[in-house]
Amino acid sequence: MTTAVETFDTLRGKLTGTLALPGDPQYPALATGFNVAVTPKPLAVVEAADERDVAETVRFAAATGHAIAVQATGHGLVDPLEDAILVLTGRLGECVVHPEGWARVGAGVRWQQVIDAAAPHGLAPLSGSAPGVGVVGYTTGGGLGPVARTFGWASDRVRAVEIVTGDGELRRATPDEEPDLFWGVRGGKGALGIVTAIEFDLIPLTTLYAGALYFAAADAATVVHTWREWSASLSRAATTSLAFLQLPNAPGVPEPLAGKFTVAVRFAWTESAESGQAALTPLRAAATPVVDAVQTIPYTAIGMIHSDPADPMPFSEKAGLLSAFPAEAADALLAAAGPESGSPQVIVELRQLGGALAEAGEHPSALCHRDAGYSLILIGVPVPPVLPLLGPHAASVFTALDPWVTGGALPNVGSGTGAERIARSYDPATLERLTAIADRYDPANVFRAGQVPVRRA
Ligand SMILES: Cc1cc2nc3c(=O)[nH]c(=O)nc-3n(C[C@H](O)[C@H](O)[C@H](O)COP(=O)(O)OP(=O)(O)OC[C@H]3O[C@@H](n4cnc5c(N)ncnc54)[C@H](O)[C@@H]3O)c2cc1C
Repeated sequence: MTTAVETFDTLRGKLTGTLALPGDPQYPALATGFNVAVTPKPLAVVEAADERDVAETVRFAAATGHAIAVQATGHGLVDPLEDAILVLTGRLGECVVHPEGWARVGAGVRWQQVIDAAAPHGLAPLSGSAPGVGVVGYTTGGGLGPVARTFGWASDRVRAVEIVTGDGELRRATPDEEPDLFWGVRGGKGALGIVTAIEFDLIPLTTLYAGALYFAAADAATVVHTWREWSASLSRAATTSLAFLQLPNAPGVPEPLAGKFTVAVRFAWTESAESGQAALTPLRAAATPVVDAVQTIPYTAIGMIHSDPADPMPFSEKAGLLSAFPAEAADALLAAAGPESGSPQVIVELRQLGGALAEAGEHPSALCHRDAGYSLILIGVPVPPVLPLLGPHAASVFTALDPWVTGGALPNVGSGTGAERIARSYDPATLERLTAIADRYDPANVFRAGQVPVRRA
Protein backbone atom coordinates (compact mmCIF):
# COMPACT_ATOMS: atom_id res chain seq x y z
CA MET A 1 0.00 0.00 0.00
CA THR A 2 1.21 3.51 -0.83
CA THR A 3 1.28 5.85 2.16
CA ALA A 4 0.89 9.61 1.89
CA VAL A 5 4.51 10.06 2.96
CA GLU A 6 5.78 7.72 0.22
CA THR A 7 3.64 9.55 -2.30
CA PHE A 8 5.03 12.90 -1.29
CA ASP A 9 8.48 11.30 -1.31
CA THR A 10 7.99 10.59 -4.99
CA LEU A 11 7.26 14.25 -5.61
CA ARG A 12 10.18 15.29 -3.41
CA GLY A 13 12.49 13.27 -5.61
CA LYS A 14 11.44 15.28 -8.67
CA LEU A 15 11.94 18.71 -7.10
CA THR A 16 14.95 20.99 -6.97
CA GLY A 17 13.34 22.95 -4.14
CA THR A 18 12.14 21.84 -0.71
CA LEU A 19 9.09 19.76 0.18
CA ALA A 20 8.18 19.73 3.87
CA LEU A 21 5.48 17.69 5.59
CA PRO A 22 4.01 18.34 9.05
CA GLY A 23 6.64 17.13 11.50
CA ASP A 24 9.56 17.89 9.18
CA PRO A 25 12.00 20.39 10.70
CA GLN A 26 11.55 22.93 7.87
CA TYR A 27 7.74 22.84 7.99
CA PRO A 28 7.04 25.49 10.69
CA ALA A 29 9.29 28.09 9.04
CA LEU A 30 7.74 27.48 5.61
CA ALA A 31 4.08 27.20 6.67
CA THR A 32 3.68 30.81 7.75
CA GLY A 33 2.81 34.17 6.23
CA PHE A 34 2.41 37.91 6.83
CA ASN A 35 -1.01 37.51 8.47
CA VAL A 36 -0.06 35.61 11.62
CA ALA A 37 -3.72 35.46 12.72
CA VAL A 38 -3.94 32.51 10.33
CA THR A 39 -1.70 29.50 10.89
CA PRO A 40 -1.42 27.55 7.65
CA LYS A 41 -1.61 23.79 8.16
CA PRO A 42 -1.23 22.48 4.59
CA LEU A 43 -0.76 18.79 3.83
CA ALA A 44 2.66 19.72 2.45
CA VAL A 45 4.63 22.83 1.62
CA VAL A 46 6.65 23.05 -1.57
CA GLU A 47 9.18 25.84 -1.75
CA ALA A 48 9.61 25.91 -5.52
CA ALA A 49 13.10 26.58 -6.85
CA ASP A 50 11.85 27.24 -10.37
CA GLU A 51 8.83 26.90 -12.63
CA ARG A 52 9.58 23.22 -13.20
CA ASP A 53 9.00 22.59 -9.48
CA VAL A 54 5.68 24.42 -9.75
CA ALA A 55 4.64 22.30 -12.75
CA GLU A 56 5.71 19.01 -11.07
CA THR A 57 3.70 19.89 -7.97
CA VAL A 58 0.60 20.82 -9.94
CA ARG A 59 0.80 17.59 -11.97
CA PHE A 60 1.16 15.64 -8.71
CA ALA A 61 -1.89 17.38 -7.23
CA ALA A 62 -3.95 16.73 -10.35
CA ALA A 63 -2.99 13.05 -10.31
CA THR A 64 -3.65 12.55 -6.59
CA GLY A 65 -6.75 14.73 -6.20
CA HIS A 66 -5.14 17.27 -3.91
CA ALA A 67 -5.87 21.01 -3.91
CA ILE A 68 -3.13 23.56 -4.49
CA ALA A 69 -2.74 26.94 -2.83
CA VAL A 70 -0.05 29.46 -3.74
CA GLN A 71 1.73 31.99 -1.59
CA ALA A 72 4.44 34.57 -2.12
CA THR A 73 4.25 36.62 1.10
CA GLY A 74 1.12 35.58 3.00
CA HIS A 75 -0.38 39.10 2.90
CA GLY A 76 -3.51 37.42 1.56
CA LEU A 77 -3.53 34.43 3.89
CA VAL A 78 -7.20 33.89 4.69
CA ASP A 79 -7.62 30.28 5.71
CA PRO A 80 -5.45 27.46 7.10
CA LEU A 81 -5.39 25.60 3.75
CA GLU A 82 -5.71 22.32 5.64
CA ASP A 83 -6.48 20.15 2.63
CA ALA A 84 -4.06 21.79 0.22
CA ILE A 85 -0.48 21.56 -0.90
CA LEU A 86 0.95 25.04 -0.44
CA VAL A 87 3.33 26.17 -3.18
CA LEU A 88 5.68 28.94 -2.08
CA THR A 89 7.03 31.16 -4.85
CA GLY A 90 9.52 33.19 -2.80
CA ARG A 91 12.54 31.75 -4.63
CA LEU A 92 11.24 32.83 -8.06
CA GLY A 93 13.16 36.07 -7.67
CA GLU A 94 13.90 37.29 -11.21
CA CYS A 95 13.54 41.09 -11.44
CA VAL A 96 14.57 42.78 -14.69
CA VAL A 97 13.71 46.36 -15.54
CA HIS A 98 13.86 47.32 -19.20
CA PRO A 99 14.75 51.02 -19.47
CA GLU A 100 12.35 51.44 -22.36
CA GLY A 101 9.52 51.10 -19.86
CA TRP A 102 8.61 47.63 -18.73
CA ALA A 103 9.63 44.98 -16.21
CA ARG A 104 9.66 41.21 -15.95
CA VAL A 105 9.54 39.74 -12.47
CA GLY A 106 9.27 36.31 -10.91
CA ALA A 107 6.33 35.30 -8.74
CA GLY A 108 8.32 35.73 -5.52
CA VAL A 109 9.16 39.40 -6.01
CA ARG A 110 7.74 42.09 -3.73
CA TRP A 111 6.98 45.64 -4.89
CA GLN A 112 9.86 47.42 -3.16
CA GLN A 113 12.37 45.43 -5.21
CA VAL A 114 10.77 46.56 -8.47
CA ILE A 115 10.41 50.15 -7.23
CA ASP A 116 14.12 50.27 -6.36
CA ALA A 117 15.19 48.66 -9.63
CA ALA A 118 13.00 50.96 -11.75
CA ALA A 119 13.89 54.27 -10.04
CA PRO A 120 17.38 54.70 -11.59
CA HIS A 121 15.68 54.67 -15.00
CA GLY A 122 13.14 57.34 -14.00
CA LEU A 123 10.42 54.67 -13.95
CA ALA A 124 7.96 53.31 -11.42
CA PRO A 125 5.60 50.33 -11.17
CA LEU A 126 1.95 50.71 -10.15
CA SER A 127 2.59 49.30 -6.69
CA GLY A 128 0.22 49.24 -3.74
CA SER A 129 0.17 51.02 -0.41
CA ALA A 130 2.50 48.44 1.20
CA PRO A 131 5.75 47.81 -0.73
CA GLY A 132 6.16 44.44 1.01
CA VAL A 133 3.13 42.99 -0.81
CA GLY A 134 3.87 40.52 -3.62
CA VAL A 135 3.71 41.77 -7.22
CA VAL A 136 1.80 38.79 -8.62
CA GLY A 137 -0.82 38.38 -5.89
CA TYR A 138 -1.52 42.12 -5.96
CA THR A 139 -1.63 42.50 -9.73
CA THR A 140 -3.77 39.45 -10.42
CA GLY A 141 -6.36 40.93 -8.01
CA GLY A 142 -6.51 44.29 -9.83
CA GLY A 143 -4.12 46.28 -7.69
CA LEU A 144 -5.42 49.55 -6.23
CA GLY A 145 -2.44 51.75 -5.39
CA PRO A 146 -1.66 55.22 -4.05
CA VAL A 147 -1.58 56.80 -7.54
CA ALA A 148 -4.43 54.72 -8.96
CA ARG A 149 -6.79 57.54 -9.91
CA THR A 150 -4.11 58.90 -12.26
CA PHE A 151 -2.79 55.65 -13.71
CA GLY A 152 -5.52 53.06 -13.12
CA TRP A 153 -5.37 49.42 -12.05
CA ALA A 154 -2.06 47.56 -11.98
CA SER A 155 -3.69 44.64 -13.78
CA ASP A 156 -4.38 46.85 -16.82
CA ARG A 157 -0.61 47.35 -17.24
CA VAL A 158 0.16 43.65 -17.62
CA ARG A 159 1.74 42.64 -20.95
CA ALA A 160 2.21 38.91 -20.37
CA VAL A 161 2.19 36.19 -17.74
CA GLU A 162 3.80 32.79 -17.62
CA ILE A 163 1.46 30.48 -15.78
CA VAL A 164 1.31 26.81 -14.81
CA THR A 165 -2.27 25.76 -15.42
CA GLY A 166 -4.10 22.92 -13.67
CA ASP A 167 -2.94 20.38 -16.23
CA GLY A 168 0.67 21.09 -15.19
CA GLU A 169 1.59 22.93 -18.41
CA LEU A 170 3.63 26.12 -18.33
CA ARG A 171 1.96 28.55 -20.73
CA ARG A 172 2.58 32.11 -21.85
CA ALA A 173 -0.50 34.32 -21.95
CA THR A 174 -0.64 37.65 -23.80
CA PRO A 175 -3.43 39.46 -25.64
CA ASP A 176 -2.66 37.19 -28.62
CA GLU A 177 -1.43 33.91 -27.07
CA GLU A 178 -3.86 32.05 -24.77
CA PRO A 179 -6.17 35.12 -24.76
CA ASP A 180 -8.70 33.52 -22.37
CA LEU A 181 -5.99 32.95 -19.77
CA PHE A 182 -4.73 36.50 -20.29
CA TRP A 183 -8.25 37.81 -19.75
CA GLY A 184 -8.88 35.74 -16.64
CA VAL A 185 -5.60 36.04 -14.80
CA ARG A 186 -6.03 39.83 -14.59
CA GLY A 187 -8.65 39.92 -11.83
CA GLY A 188 -8.96 36.16 -11.36
CA LYS A 189 -6.00 35.87 -8.97
CA GLY A 190 -4.95 32.22 -8.56
CA ALA A 191 -8.14 30.73 -10.04
CA LEU A 192 -6.57 29.66 -13.33
CA GLY A 193 -3.07 28.68 -12.31
CA ILE A 194 0.18 29.64 -10.66
CA VAL A 195 1.82 32.60 -12.33
CA THR A 196 5.58 32.04 -12.40
CA ALA A 197 6.56 35.33 -14.07
CA ILE A 198 4.79 38.53 -15.05
CA GLU A 199 5.64 41.34 -17.44
CA PHE A 200 4.10 44.79 -17.11
CA ASP A 201 4.48 48.42 -18.13
CA LEU A 202 6.23 50.93 -15.91
CA ILE A 203 5.34 54.61 -15.78
CA PRO A 204 7.74 57.54 -16.06
CA LEU A 205 7.47 58.93 -12.52
CA THR A 206 10.24 59.78 -10.06
CA THR A 207 8.66 62.03 -7.44
CA LEU A 208 5.27 62.74 -5.96
CA TYR A 209 3.77 65.43 -3.77
CA ALA A 210 2.36 62.98 -1.29
CA GLY A 211 1.96 61.73 2.25
CA ALA A 212 -0.67 62.02 4.95
CA LEU A 213 -2.23 64.62 7.21
CA TYR A 214 -3.19 63.29 10.63
CA PHE A 215 -5.92 65.02 12.64
CA ALA A 216 -7.10 64.72 16.25
CA ALA A 217 -10.30 62.85 17.12
CA ALA A 218 -11.97 66.13 18.07
CA ASP A 219 -11.73 67.24 14.43
CA ALA A 220 -13.03 63.98 12.96
CA ALA A 221 -16.46 65.25 11.85
CA THR A 222 -15.04 68.41 10.28
CA VAL A 223 -12.31 66.49 8.47
CA VAL A 224 -14.63 63.77 7.19
CA HIS A 225 -17.13 66.23 5.79
CA THR A 226 -14.42 68.47 4.31
CA TRP A 227 -12.70 65.43 2.75
CA ARG A 228 -15.99 64.26 1.27
CA GLU A 229 -16.72 67.53 -0.50
CA TRP A 230 -13.11 68.29 -1.42
CA SER A 231 -12.31 64.85 -2.82
CA ALA A 232 -15.37 64.95 -5.05
CA SER A 233 -13.93 68.00 -6.80
CA LEU A 234 -10.37 66.68 -7.29
CA SER A 235 -8.88 66.00 -10.68
CA ARG A 236 -7.41 62.58 -11.42
CA ALA A 237 -3.95 63.94 -10.56
CA ALA A 238 -5.02 63.23 -6.96
CA THR A 239 -5.55 59.89 -5.28
CA THR A 240 -6.80 60.14 -1.71
CA SER A 241 -8.13 58.07 1.14
CA LEU A 242 -9.49 58.75 4.59
CA ALA A 243 -8.72 56.50 7.54
CA PHE A 244 -9.82 56.32 11.16
CA LEU A 245 -6.78 55.02 13.00
CA GLN A 246 -6.49 53.57 16.48
CA LEU A 247 -2.82 52.68 16.48
CA PRO A 248 -1.32 50.97 19.49
CA ASN A 249 1.08 52.55 21.92
CA ALA A 250 3.92 50.51 20.48
CA PRO A 251 7.49 51.02 19.32
CA GLY A 252 7.62 52.66 15.90
CA VAL A 253 4.24 54.41 16.20
CA PRO A 254 4.84 58.19 16.34
CA GLU A 255 3.85 59.71 19.68
CA PRO A 256 1.05 61.97 18.31
CA LEU A 257 -0.67 58.88 16.89
CA ALA A 258 0.12 56.23 19.51
CA GLY A 259 -2.75 54.98 21.65
CA LYS A 260 -5.18 57.56 20.26
CA PHE A 261 -7.99 57.87 17.76
CA THR A 262 -6.76 59.95 14.81
CA VAL A 263 -8.01 60.63 11.30
CA ALA A 264 -5.56 60.31 8.41
CA VAL A 265 -6.06 61.89 5.01
CA ARG A 266 -3.72 60.25 2.51
CA PHE A 267 -2.89 62.25 -0.61
CA ALA A 268 -0.77 61.53 -3.68
CA TRP A 269 -0.49 64.11 -6.43
CA THR A 270 1.13 63.26 -9.75
CA GLU A 271 1.62 66.79 -11.12
CA SER A 272 3.80 69.64 -9.80
CA ALA A 273 4.35 70.12 -6.07
CA GLU A 274 3.04 73.68 -6.36
CA SER A 275 -0.26 72.56 -7.85
CA GLY A 276 -0.45 69.74 -5.29
CA GLN A 277 -0.01 72.19 -2.43
CA ALA A 278 -2.79 74.32 -3.85
CA ALA A 279 -5.05 71.28 -4.24
CA LEU A 280 -4.48 70.25 -0.63
CA THR A 281 -5.10 73.69 0.87
CA PRO A 282 -8.77 73.10 1.82
CA LEU A 283 -7.81 70.02 3.86
CA ARG A 284 -4.94 71.77 5.61
CA ALA A 285 -7.36 74.58 6.43
CA ALA A 286 -10.10 72.28 7.74
CA ALA A 287 -8.35 71.79 11.08
CA THR A 288 -4.80 71.85 12.41
CA PRO A 289 -3.14 68.51 11.71
CA VAL A 290 -1.31 66.86 14.62
CA VAL A 291 1.14 65.61 11.99
CA ASP A 292 1.57 67.07 8.50
CA ALA A 293 3.59 64.57 6.48
CA VAL A 294 2.68 65.65 2.95
CA GLN A 295 5.75 66.70 1.01
CA THR A 296 7.70 65.97 -2.16
CA ILE A 297 8.88 62.37 -1.91
CA PRO A 298 10.79 60.07 -4.22
CA TYR A 299 8.59 57.28 -5.60
CA THR A 300 10.88 54.88 -3.74
CA ALA A 301 9.30 56.20 -0.50
CA ILE A 302 5.72 55.52 -1.65
CA GLY A 303 5.14 53.28 1.39
CA MET A 304 5.11 56.34 3.67
CA ILE A 305 1.78 57.55 2.27
CA HIS A 306 -0.19 54.83 4.07
CA SER A 307 2.57 53.70 6.47
CA ASP A 308 1.11 50.18 6.48
CA PRO A 309 2.82 47.74 8.86
CA ALA A 310 5.89 46.14 7.31
CA ASP A 311 6.33 43.23 9.73
CA PRO A 312 4.07 40.19 10.02
CA MET A 313 1.09 40.83 12.31
CA PRO A 314 -2.33 39.34 13.06
CA PHE A 315 -5.24 41.00 11.29
CA SER A 316 -8.75 40.40 10.04
CA GLU A 317 -10.56 42.42 7.41
CA LYS A 318 -14.05 43.19 6.21
CA ALA A 319 -14.22 45.01 2.91
CA GLY A 320 -16.74 46.24 0.41
CA LEU A 321 -17.52 48.95 -2.09
CA LEU A 322 -19.69 52.05 -1.87
CA SER A 323 -21.49 53.71 -4.76
CA ALA A 324 -21.24 57.19 -3.23
CA PHE A 325 -20.34 58.99 -0.02
CA PRO A 326 -22.86 61.79 0.53
CA ALA A 327 -23.20 63.78 3.77
CA GLU A 328 -25.63 61.18 5.18
CA ALA A 329 -23.08 58.42 4.60
CA ALA A 330 -20.36 60.47 6.27
CA ASP A 331 -22.60 60.93 9.33
CA ALA A 332 -23.38 57.20 9.34
CA LEU A 333 -19.69 56.30 9.17
CA LEU A 334 -18.84 58.72 11.98
CA ALA A 335 -21.62 57.31 14.16
CA ALA A 336 -20.67 53.69 13.51
CA ALA A 337 -16.87 53.92 13.48
CA GLY A 338 -15.90 57.44 14.57
CA PRO A 339 -14.26 58.56 17.82
CA GLU A 340 -17.43 58.22 19.95
CA SER A 341 -18.45 54.84 18.54
CA GLY A 342 -16.31 52.52 20.66
CA SER A 343 -15.00 50.97 17.45
CA PRO A 344 -12.60 48.09 18.10
CA GLN A 345 -11.01 48.39 14.63
CA VAL A 346 -7.41 49.53 14.21
CA ILE A 347 -8.10 50.98 10.75
CA VAL A 348 -11.31 52.00 9.02
CA GLU A 349 -10.30 53.16 5.56
CA LEU A 350 -12.23 54.69 2.70
CA ARG A 351 -10.37 54.99 -0.61
CA GLN A 352 -11.83 57.26 -3.27
CA LEU A 353 -12.03 55.45 -6.61
CA GLY A 354 -13.01 56.99 -9.96
CA GLY A 355 -10.62 58.77 -12.31
CA ALA A 356 -8.61 56.29 -14.39
CA LEU A 357 -9.98 53.43 -12.23
CA ALA A 358 -13.41 53.86 -13.81
CA GLU A 359 -12.12 53.37 -17.35
CA ALA A 360 -11.93 50.11 -19.26
CA GLY A 361 -8.42 48.72 -19.66
CA GLU A 362 -6.77 48.49 -23.07
CA HIS A 363 -7.49 44.75 -23.02
CA PRO A 364 -10.69 43.43 -21.36
CA SER A 365 -10.13 41.44 -18.16
CA ALA A 366 -11.91 39.67 -15.31
CA LEU A 367 -11.57 42.68 -13.01
CA CYS A 368 -15.07 43.87 -12.07
CA HIS A 369 -16.62 46.81 -10.20
CA ARG A 370 -14.84 49.62 -12.05
CA ASP A 371 -17.88 51.85 -11.52
CA ALA A 372 -17.69 51.82 -7.70
CA GLY A 373 -17.13 55.17 -5.99
CA TYR A 374 -15.25 54.12 -2.87
CA SER A 375 -13.54 51.10 -1.35
CA LEU A 376 -14.21 50.57 2.36
CA ILE A 377 -12.10 48.29 4.51
CA LEU A 378 -12.12 47.64 8.25
CA ILE A 379 -9.03 46.08 9.77
CA GLY A 380 -8.84 44.69 13.28
CA VAL A 381 -6.30 42.79 15.31
CA PRO A 382 -8.10 39.58 16.27
CA VAL A 383 -6.74 39.01 19.76
CA PRO A 384 -8.55 39.20 23.12
CA PRO A 385 -10.27 41.28 24.38
CA VAL A 386 -11.43 42.80 21.06
CA LEU A 387 -11.53 39.52 19.14
CA PRO A 388 -15.26 38.80 19.67
CA LEU A 389 -16.18 42.43 18.97
CA LEU A 390 -14.54 42.80 15.55
CA GLY A 391 -16.94 40.83 13.36
CA PRO A 392 -20.19 42.21 14.81
CA HIS A 393 -18.83 45.76 14.75
CA ALA A 394 -17.67 45.45 11.14
CA ALA A 395 -21.08 44.10 10.19
CA SER A 396 -22.77 47.01 11.96
CA VAL A 397 -20.70 49.53 10.00
CA PHE A 398 -21.77 47.96 6.72
CA THR A 399 -25.38 47.94 7.91
CA ALA A 400 -25.14 51.63 8.76
CA LEU A 401 -23.83 52.32 5.25
CA ASP A 402 -26.24 49.93 3.59
CA PRO A 403 -27.90 52.49 1.25
CA TRP A 404 -24.51 53.04 -0.41
CA VAL A 405 -23.04 49.50 -0.19
CA THR A 406 -22.92 48.04 -3.71
CA GLY A 407 -22.64 44.40 -2.63
CA GLY A 408 -19.43 44.02 -4.65
CA ALA A 409 -15.90 43.61 -3.35
CA LEU A 410 -12.40 43.78 -4.79
CA PRO A 411 -10.71 40.38 -5.09
CA ASN A 412 -7.61 41.60 -3.22
CA VAL A 413 -9.18 42.57 0.08
CA GLY A 414 -11.37 41.01 2.75
CA SER A 415 -10.84 37.99 4.98
CA GLY A 416 -13.87 36.04 3.84
CA THR A 417 -13.60 32.84 1.86
CA GLY A 418 -16.02 30.68 -0.05
CA ALA A 419 -18.96 31.23 -2.34
CA GLU A 420 -20.12 34.49 -0.79
CA ARG A 421 -16.77 36.18 -1.36
CA ILE A 422 -16.42 34.78 -4.86
CA ALA A 423 -19.89 36.01 -5.78
CA ARG A 424 -19.11 39.50 -4.46
CA SER A 425 -15.81 39.71 -6.35
CA TYR A 426 -17.23 39.03 -9.82
CA ASP A 427 -20.38 39.89 -11.70
CA PRO A 428 -22.32 36.81 -12.87
CA ALA A 429 -21.10 36.91 -16.48
CA THR A 430 -17.46 37.24 -15.42
CA LEU A 431 -17.79 34.43 -12.89
CA GLU A 432 -19.38 32.21 -15.50
CA ARG A 433 -16.58 32.86 -18.02
CA LEU A 434 -13.84 32.46 -15.38
CA THR A 435 -15.36 29.18 -14.27
CA ALA A 436 -15.56 27.90 -17.86
CA ILE A 437 -11.89 28.79 -18.45
CA ALA A 438 -10.94 27.11 -15.16
CA ASP A 439 -12.87 23.99 -16.22
CA ARG A 440 -10.83 23.90 -19.44
CA TYR A 441 -7.35 24.55 -18.03
CA ASP A 442 -7.80 22.88 -14.65
CA PRO A 443 -9.97 19.80 -15.24
CA ALA A 444 -8.99 18.25 -11.89
CA ASN A 445 -9.94 21.45 -10.01
CA VAL A 446 -6.59 21.70 -8.19
CA PHE A 447 -6.88 25.48 -7.81
CA ARG A 448 -9.69 25.44 -5.26
CA ALA A 449 -7.85 26.99 -2.28
CA GLY A 450 -6.55 30.48 -1.47
CA GLN A 451 -7.93 34.01 -1.68
CA VAL A 452 -10.67 33.77 -4.35
CA PRO A 453 -10.73 30.53 -6.31
CA VAL A 454 -13.75 30.53 -8.62
CA ARG A 455 -14.55 26.89 -7.85
CA ARG A 456 -14.59 25.19 -4.46
CA ALA A 457 -14.89 21.51 -3.60
C1 LIG B 1 -0.66 45.58 4.64
C2 LIG B 1 -1.42 45.29 3.36
C3 LIG B 1 -1.57 46.30 2.42
C4 LIG B 1 -2.26 46.06 1.22
N1 LIG B 1 -2.43 47.08 0.34
C5 LIG B 1 -3.11 46.86 -0.81
C6 LIG B 1 -3.32 47.91 -1.76
O1 LIG B 1 -2.86 49.04 -1.56
N2 LIG B 1 -4.03 47.63 -2.88
C7 LIG B 1 -4.50 46.37 -3.16
O2 LIG B 1 -5.08 46.16 -4.23
N3 LIG B 1 -4.33 45.36 -2.28
C8 LIG B 1 -3.65 45.59 -1.12
N4 LIG B 1 -3.49 44.56 -0.22
C9 LIG B 1 -4.06 43.24 -0.53
C10 LIG B 1 -3.07 42.43 -1.34
O3 LIG B 1 -2.90 42.98 -2.64
C11 LIG B 1 -3.56 40.97 -1.49
O4 LIG B 1 -3.70 40.38 -0.23
C12 LIG B 1 -2.62 40.16 -2.37
O5 LIG B 1 -3.21 38.93 -2.67
C13 LIG B 1 -1.30 39.91 -1.68
O6 LIG B 1 -0.45 39.20 -2.53
P1 LIG B 1 0.78 38.42 -1.89
O7 LIG B 1 1.41 37.61 -2.94
O8 LIG B 1 1.62 39.42 -1.15
O9 LIG B 1 0.04 37.50 -0.82
P2 LIG B 1 -0.07 35.92 -0.74
O10 LIG B 1 -0.79 35.67 0.56
O11 LIG B 1 1.23 35.30 -0.92
O12 LIG B 1 -1.04 35.53 -1.93
C14 LIG B 1 -2.42 35.84 -1.82
C15 LIG B 1 -3.19 35.32 -3.00
O13 LIG B 1 -2.69 35.92 -4.20
C16 LIG B 1 -2.79 35.00 -5.27
N5 LIG B 1 -1.44 34.67 -5.72
C17 LIG B 1 -0.26 34.86 -5.07
N6 LIG B 1 0.76 34.42 -5.82
C18 LIG B 1 0.23 33.93 -6.96
C19 LIG B 1 0.76 33.31 -8.13
N7 LIG B 1 2.08 33.12 -8.28
N8 LIG B 1 -0.08 32.94 -9.10
C20 LIG B 1 -1.41 33.11 -8.98
N9 LIG B 1 -1.97 33.69 -7.91
C21 LIG B 1 -1.17 34.09 -6.90
C22 LIG B 1 -3.49 33.77 -4.71
O14 LIG B 1 -4.88 33.94 -4.90
C23 LIG B 1 -3.15 33.83 -3.24
O15 LIG B 1 -4.11 33.16 -2.43
C24 LIG B 1 -2.80 44.77 0.97
C25 LIG B 1 -2.67 43.77 1.93
C26 LIG B 1 -1.99 44.02 3.11
C27 LIG B 1 -1.88 42.93 4.13
